[in-house]
Amino acid sequence: RMASPALLMRVVASAYSVAEKAAAIVRNAMAAGDLGIVEKTGANDLQTKADRLVQMSICASLARKFPKVTIIGEEELSTDEVTEDLIENGHCEEILKKTCPAQYTGIKEEELVIWVDPLDGTKEYTEGLLDHVTVLIGIAYGGKAIAGVINQPYYNYEAGAGAVLGRTIWGVLGLGAFGFQLTEAPAGKHIIVTTRSHSSTLVNDCISALNPDNVIRVGGAGNKIVHLIEGKASAYVFASPGCKKWDTCAPEAILHAVGGKITDIHGNSFQYNKEVKHMNSAGVLATLRNYDYYASRIPETVKKSLVP
Ligand code: AMP
Ligand code: MG
Ligand code: MG
Repeated sequence: RMASPALLMRVVASAYSVAEKAAAIVRNAMAAGDLGIVEKTGANDLQTKADRLVQMSICASLARKFPKVTIIGEEELSTDEVTEDLIENGHCEEILKKTCPAQYTGIKEEELVIWVDPLDGTKEYTEGLLDHVTVLIGIAYGGKAIAGVINQPYYNYEAGAGAVLGRTIWGVLGLGAFGFQLTEAPAGKHIIVTTRSHSSTLVNDCISALNPDNVIRVGGAGNKIVHLIEGKASAYVFASPGCKKWDTCAPEAILHAVGGKITDIHGNSFQYNKEVKHMNSAGVLATLRNYDYYASRIPETVKKSLVP
């Protein structure tokens, strides 16, 4: 008899289907028209009806299947009154067929922390920049991001009517990442991807110091990591607080699964245990390749302005 799949693979397989349901909710909410926008800390920190529904869908669906796992979602909402139509019970069979890396086969539910960004790139979503949006489900063990799912609800939307919308990227450390074509950025060029809606003098000064050939300004932490793994940018540089653990957990797991690196602007790795503070106060520096080139060129003045 086949041994039953390891818990980690069952969680990833479920997170895959839960993220696909989330993407459908994101698309339906936009199609329905009334976005239900609420300001959280201000005009650049928004929540829409889609953020709320997807948060409830993901957190309630995963909590029902894995009741002892700690789930931390961006939006402060109770899942007590979640309606049954928001629940996803399915899982991805293809993921269950993969072998769990040996170091993770003994993981218990109590040891996992799931970081959920129901809709990353909300500001851009409200402005109709739909391909910036991602749904992020990151899985941490021992304080480390070890697996993740990134869904792009509007992948392929420029192909026009009739095109199949959306795609799901997933990965596990020690196993790899799937659902996209890993591509390196053009050799010898420094293409930096950064924030579109949360810029500051420090953010821009830091980028200038890196002498980029090109700067791509787009929304979403998930979207920017997808730029790195598809070779559209060589570094993600964000010298500012603002990005949170739910923004980086899933992207980090996928980036690390393909040999990339993400840290704060000082080079410190992020921690994802349940007690950790949510804010990535000292910014983000991520690359698929040549991390040291960028890390060694971050100005000391920028580092002094960002306290971890
Ligand atoms: P961005 O690159 O601006 O899309 O930011 C990546 C993630 O960090 C998104 O989830 C943003 O909402 C969040 N973020 C970055 N800076 C801020 C900020 N100043 N205030 C609120 N959220 C922020
Ligand atoms: Mg986000
Ligand atoms: Mg969000």
